Amino acid sequence: MLAAPQPQQKSDRSNHLFDAIIIGSGIGGLVTATQLAAKGAKVLVLESYLIPGGSAGYFEREGYRFDVGASMIFGFGTKGTTNLLTRALDAVNVSIETIADPVSVRYHLPAGLELKVHKDYEKYLQELTAYFPHERQGIRKFYDECWKVFNCLNVMELLSLEEPQYLARVFLQHPLACLGLVQYLPQNAGDIARRYIKDPQLLKFIDMECYFWSVVPAEKTPMINAGMVFSDRHYGGINYPKGGVGQIAQKLVDGLEKAGGQIQYKARVKKIITEKGKAIGVELANGKAIFAKRIISNATRWDTFEKLLPADEMPTAEKKWRQRYEKSPSFLSLHLGVEASVLPPGTDCHHILLEDWDKMEATEGTVLVSIPTLLDPDLAPEGYHIIHAFTPSWIQEWEGLPAKEYEEKKEAAAGRIIERLEKIFPGLDAGLDYMEVGTARSHRRFLGREDGTYGPIPKRKLMGLLGMPFNRTSIPGLYCVGDSTFPGQGLNAVAFSGFACAHRVAVDLGL
Ligand SMILES: Cc1cc2nc3c(=O)[nH]c(=O)nc-3n(C[C@H](O)[C@H](O)[C@H](O)COP(=O)(O)OP(=O)(O)OC[C@H]3O[C@@H](n4cnc5c(N)ncnc54)[C@H](O)[C@@H]3O)c2cc1C
Repeated sequence: MLAAPQPQQKSDRSNHLFDAIIIGSGIGGLVTATQLAAKGAKVLVLESYLIPGGSAGYFEREGYRFDVGASMIFGFGTKGTTNLLTRALDAVNVSIETIADPVSVRYHLPAGLELKVHKDYEKYLQELTAYFPHERQGIRKFYDECWKVFNCLNVMELLSLEEPQYLARVFLQHPLACLGLVQYLPQNAGDIARRYIKDPQLLKFIDMECYFWSVVPAEKTPMINAGMVFSDRHYGGINYPKGGVGQIAQKLVDGLEKAGGQIQYKARVKKIITEKGKAIGVELANGKAIFAKRIISNATRWDTFEKLLPADEMPTAEKKWRQRYEKSPSFLSLHLGVEASVLPPGTDCHHILLEDWDKMEATEGTVLVSIPTLLDPDLAPEGYHIIHAFTPSWIQEWEGLPAKEYEEKKEAAAGRIIERLEKIFPGLDAGLDYMEVGTARSHRRFLGREDGTYGPIPKRKLMGLLGMPFNRTSIPGLYCVGDSTFPGQGLNAVAFSGFACAHRVAVDLGL
């Protein structure tokens, strides 16, 4: 346990007592902060980097504005309750213009399985059924069951499942939807898929449908998350924020400040200060201590409980969580600027490439591609496009390399990915104008995520989402938010976690 603050720090405590300090300005942290500020709480966000957003941030090079990570954005719909990014921005009186994507992803898979996931549900089912006509019924039954999950979620206000009064209220308002969700909570998408589908190739395709966002095959992907993703892409749809993904965090910060909240950049939290076992403040890398009634960590659970708190005093619940979940790999990311002629007219924005089913989960197996300039051309100089290609990669492959070897290894890995992408985009190599390669080391350094991990994945098959922790932790006064909490990775998912966290904290603060 960290030592209690010294007398000097105590005077700071009474002078600058915040209701809540949020460690990190990822989308989970910012949604928590804005929600709390909108309720009148005095909040401070501390961000170690220069700009907000974390994995939803951006960087600019030679006229290109690259998204750091996320580009396929759910949650910008206009109806229902699952459009959490729209709602989070609305809550602090800001908004973003978005551009609708008619195709959420185009697959390039083994044995010539080439298909598009259209926003139009029926069109998508037709395209998939054309490859597997003998599974017509199974395909419809599986995806229709995903809609059942989504329809239950999409009628209720999504707040903290740790708040009994909210649970009672929502149950009284939507008893059937609640019972529906309780039924799906412990289930995984693979179990439901196998109930209706027998064709092994189609089951592999369903694995990929899950893997590209959950980083695990269908048998380990919670049905609640699958229901959200597989339905919302046809409902609210995939919508790209004009000006790039970084706009989401920037606008949330604008809203936060308008609502009276504060954010500090280049403010790395080194320690969470505890007193008699309760979290009461944070210590920054520059030694300054700041205190608050509640501390909320948007860092990963590994960073929170092994670095910001003493690892040898880890609460039992955290140790148990580590027996169920492990770190997913990070990514090798190629941020490319290319001549527009490389992309023929009608090219889709998001692609998934895999040549051998056995390599789906392997390092450099599945390649994910986003070309956001097809939706917002202003992100690149005229006559050029951005291609962001990324593929799973572990930190161990990049650790301990001297600078020259590290650069050579990056160059070689980029060459392999470009060679594979040439099959979809012939002439890519010749049309390259700019290239920057990020590794697991870059993700660790710039996103502050241990080993650069994309987030937690089940170590073995678990009971759906039941094993994911909510926002409260075993340490009084300390909460977690973001992709290490229910319901997991993705911008709309961490926004859900932010709504839930702010709700629970507000109730605890009596707001
Ligand atoms: C390559 C890639 C592609 C992706 N594609 C998509 C996609 O297409 N669609 C989608 O929805 N999602 C996608 N995701 C996932 C999505 O980006 C993440 O799940 C989500 O952004 C995580 O948000 P978060 O709130 O958990 O925090 P993070 O984004 O991890 O942000 C945490 C913040 O906390 C800060 N921080 C950490 N420790 C400290 C400290 N000690 N002191 C101060 N600050 C600290 C960090 O600097 C960071 O800004 C992608 C992710 C990656 C990496």
